[in-house]
Amino acid sequence: MDNLENFNEITEEFEEPVFSMENASLFIVATPIGNLGDISQRAIETLRHADLIAAEDTRHTIKLLNRLGIKNTLVSYHEYSDQKKIDSLITQMLEGKKIALVSDAGMPGISDPGSPLVSACIANDIGITVIPGPCAVVTALPMSGIDARRFVFEGFIPRDKTRRDVISDIAESKRTVVFYESPHHLLRTLEEFAAIIPERKIAICRELTKIHEEVLRMSVAEAAAYFAERQPRGEFVIILEGKKEEIKVLTEEDIRRFIEENLSLGMSRKDAAAKAVSELGAAKNIAKRIANEF
Ligand code: SAM
Repeated sequence: MDNLENFNEITEEFEEPVFSMENASLFIVATPIGNLGDISQRAIETLRHADLIAAEDTRHTIKLLNRLGIKNTLVSYHEYSDQKKIDSLITQMLEGKKIALVSDAGMPGISDPGSPLVSACIANDIGITVIPGPCAVVTALPMSGIDARRFVFEGFIPRDKTRRDVISDIAESKRTVVFYESPHHLLRTLEEFAAIIPERKIAICRELTKIHEEVLRMSVAEAAAYFAERQPRGEFVIILEGKKEEIKVLTEEDIRRFIEENLSLGMSRKDAAAKAVSELGAAKNIAKRIANEF
C-alpha cells in the first residue's frame, strides 16, 4: 500500500479539499473483489473518516482495514440484520453520524446486503452516496466478448421451485444475461442450459482481478462438457449471449400461398404480385412469375 500512502500525501498538498463527506450520511463503499490495488482513494478516505463502518462481516472487513492501516469502529449489517439494527443505524445518521456501508467484496446491494438500509435512509430523508469501485458484473461484461450494450443481471439463479422458469426465461432473453454462480452449482447450471440452448455463446469469467483470472469463451454445451471434466474452483460470473432474432427465410412456397390467397379474394395478378413485393419483401420478378402461374 506504499503507493497509495504516497498518493494520499500528494492529494493532501492541494489547497482545495479533494475529499469531503458533507454531501451524505450513508456512504455505500465498493471494496476490492480480489485485488487490493482496486480500492479507490475515496473509498480509503471514507473508511478512514466515517464515524462507523457497517460491514457484512466485521471479521472480513477488519482484515481490509488492517491492510489499509485504518482503525475505525465496525458494526455488523448483513442479510439477516433485523429492523432494530436498521433503526439504530438510522438514528445515528439522524444524529449526524456518517456511516460507511461495505460488503465482503464489491458493491454493497449487488447480490449483497444494502437495499433495506438504503430504503430506510430514503424514507427518513437521509442523504446517500456511492463511492464507486469494483463490482464483478461490470468487471466481467467488457471482457466477455459478448454484446454488452444491453444486458440484464440475474444475481444468483434460485435453487427453489422457481428455478426451472428462471432458467427458461434467461434462455429466452434477447438481451445478454449476466449471473453469478458458485463453483458447487456451476456444472448443474451449465448442464441445465445445455439441455435447452446448447449452441448459445457463453463466457465464464473466473477469479476476476486475481492471479488466476481466466475467461472461457465457448458454447453452452462445450462449457458443460469442459466442467464435467474439471472441478470448478474459485468465483464465477457467467455471461450468456441473448437469443438472436430468428431470420425467417422467405420461400417461393410462402409467396405462392400469399398470392393465391389474394387472388381468391378477387385481386388481379398484377396487384397480388405487387402486394407480395411490398408486404412480404418478395423479389419483383419472382412475385410476377408466380402470379402468372395461376
Ligand atoms: N457485491 C458483489 C459485487 O459487486 O460483485 C457480489 C457479491 S456476491 C455475494 C458474490 C459473487 O460474486 C460470487 O459468488 C461470484 O459469483 C461473484 N464474484 C465476486 N468476486 C468475483 C471475482 N473476483 N471473480 C468472479 N466472480 C466474482
